[in-house]
Amino acid sequence: MVTCAQHTFPDEIAAEAKIALSHYPELSTIPIEFKFKKNIKKSTMQAQPKFSSFFKRRKHRSYKILISEKIEIADSVYFTKDIPSEIMIGWLGHELGHVMDFEQRSGLNLIGFGISYLTSKKYIRGAERRADSYAVKHGMEKYILATKEFILEKAGLSQKYIDRIKNLYLSPEEIMLLVEERDALPTD
Ligand SMILES: [Zn+2]
Repeated sequence: MVTCAQHTFPDEIAAEAKIALSHYPELSTIPIEFKFKKNIKKSTMQAQPKFSSFFKRRKHRSYKILISEKIEIADSVYFTKDIPSEIMIGWLGHELGHVMDFEQRSGLNLIGFGISYLTSKKYIRGAERRADSYAVKHGMEKYILATKEFILEKAGLSQKYIDRIKNLYLSPEEIMLLVEERDALPTD
């Protein structure tokens, strides 16, 4: 276990977590715990506010990012710790995008987020695309694209699964558009 200031992560992904975090200077003072979990229902990683955060003022919030020990894509099972670095960084960058999204919300709004996320497909899509967008705006497009390629270019994926992923997340084309927009902004 590595602890640096506000951030805690397992040794196996320490290097990747540090790189992902370095893209989000806004989160440097926000407590975030990265944690392996045996099984996460229907997903590989999950960012969420710690329960106590709902009752605290926004600046006292803390978050955890749960990471499934195994990743199942189609019929293949991968151990998360064996995933290539670039892809792990992309994955973590996406999760930190969710944390950025949570940071903009009031406590009540977070509860609403949780409920909508559980009940509305359209809401999930919006949240996933926002997380991707945050990662791209923070200069992580290389990693996000690698992660997408890893998921989508596995042999034997059902068309249904591919369509689901393509629908929920930003496409490579949309990512490149965001990069162009970002780079066109005047820097101060
Ligand atoms: Zn997500």
